[in-house]
Amino acid sequence: MSETLTTFEQAVSRPICPRMGVAGMRWFSGRWAFEYSRMLPVSNQGLVDFVKLHLSASNQAEGLVMVVVMRPGCKPEHVEHVVKLLREMGLQDHVIVGTDRTVVAALGDKRTLDKSAIELAPMVEKCVPILAPFKLASKEVKIEPSVVPIGQHGATLGGSKVGLIAGPCSVEDREMLLETAHAVSEAGAIGLRGGAFKPRTNPYSFQGLGERGLEIMAEARERTGLAVVTEVMSVPQVELIARYADVLQIGTRNMQNFNLLDAVGQTDRPVLLKRGMSATLEEFLLAAEYVINAGNNKVILCERGIRTHETYVRNTLALGIVPAIKRESHLPIIVDPSHGTGHAYLVAPMSKAAIACGADGLIVEVHPNPERAMTDGAQSITPAEFGRLMRELQAVAVAVGRDI
Ligand code: PEP
Ligand code: MN
Repeated sequence: MSETLTTFEQAVSRPICPRMGVAGMRWFSGRWAFEYSRMLPVSNQGLVDFVKLHLSASNQAEGLVMVVVMRPGCKPEHVEHVVKLLREMGLQDHVIVGTDRTVVAALGDKRTLDKSAIELAPMVEKCVPILAPFKLASKEVKIEPSVVPIGQHGATLGGSKVGLIAGPCSVEDREMLLETAHAVSEAGAIGLRGGAFKPRTNPYSFQGLGERGLEIMAEARERTGLAVVTEVMSVPQVELIARYADVLQIGTRNMQNFNLLDAVGQTDRPVLLKRGMSATLEEFLLAAEYVINAGNNKVILCERGIRTHETYVRNTLALGIVPAIKRESHLPIIVDPSHGTGHAYLVAPMSKAAIACGADGLIVEVHPNPERAMTDGAQSITPAEFGRLMRELQAVAVAVGRDI
């Protein structure tokens, strides 16, 4: 909102925080504006705090979405131009004139805000966004953690209980899949993973069993009660896979396949969204935002390692994102220590670290005979190792106030 105070008397009757150092009022471009004797803070955070303090005097700080900092020497028409742009975006404006700088606070719904358009306006020095651009995935709209049900037997991810999904990288044949499913189920897993359609770097590598793989997964669910988790790689596959799967997995290579995110968002199946191998936290949550915005709020995030200069491990498991996501979002986040490291011997220690730092669960590659696995044998643990890991995780979960 602009300072639409029409008289000086009206203006000075506004309660203003004494720490602001208001020098007086100035008639600025058709409105009264507060003039500050102090220099405006230079750091973004200082500036934001300053503007919030100013707005809180008129109970407006809630809706602040961006602070636009004008260049020194800007003319009223430059400020008016920014105000016009903001209003065209459906936002409200609040002009604050300092002795050295003028800033415009933008208020309203950040989803309508186009930062780059404002930055292009003449005499704009910078735009400081206040709120993250994701909304439905953020804690602003939902403070309590989301609990996502998976499968038909009451299993969940995101509650007080830590949940494990386990199984081979790919469904290779019926026998190995059923053997693995029984073993991980007995060890306490809640979900069965297994790729039927595989995203392979090399077009000549095994591409998965396709629909036959889905049938085998469905049979394993019938026999064990485990929720079936499998990857969907393209929009035309969504309908077929949703018929067999309990959870639709979006792989790292597809995290920004926006059409696919939209398509799985139109189903009622929970979506396991893996972090893009070079995605930032913001891009990750914006991908989740696509799914939720399409109508499906059952999103489970998954950290699976990112590409760095390190070659010793397949990916660098960036566990710091777990508490960071917990701070920014209500969505559950699980960790994939298999793709996150590429080495079977690193799976157990990184699984413990993941649970210790607040992950809601794990997705682990388990193979009855890793040496002979058609895909990802080097990072697959055996059913016996998985059983041991489950037992060891118990103590870690309890230590951080969770159950398993
Ligand atoms: C997988 O889980 O089998 C897989 C291909 O994972 P990612 O997409 O994380 O590489
Ligand atoms: Mn794999």
